[in-house]
Amino acid sequence: MPPIIKKEKCIACHHCVDICPVDAYGLQEVRKQTPVIRYPEECWHCNACVFDCPAGAISLRIPTPAMMVFVDAPGK
Ligand code: SF4
Ligand code: SF4
Repeated sequence: MPPIIKKEKCIACHHCVDICPVDAYGLQEVRKQTPVIRYPEECWHCNACVFDCPAGAISLRIPTPAMMVFVDAPGK
């Protein structure tokens, strides 16, 4: 499952877009809005965007096979 962004918490900093190693967020035409995840099938559940979101706006549901290597993010 791709990340879910809570719009009400997002401050549109786009750290998540910039750090995603597989570019699942893709090109964002408007940098002042909550990002859109354009390529959700590319997400490999590394949790980097969840870790780095300063607003704690991103959550991730990890598929069962990926739970084997999942590292949880600290509570925000
Ligand atoms: S890192 Fe968090 S606050 Fe910043 S744009 Fe992404 S979801 Fe929004
Ligand atoms: S969990 Fe990792 S691969 Fe998936 S969108 Fe976030 S940074 Fe990209």
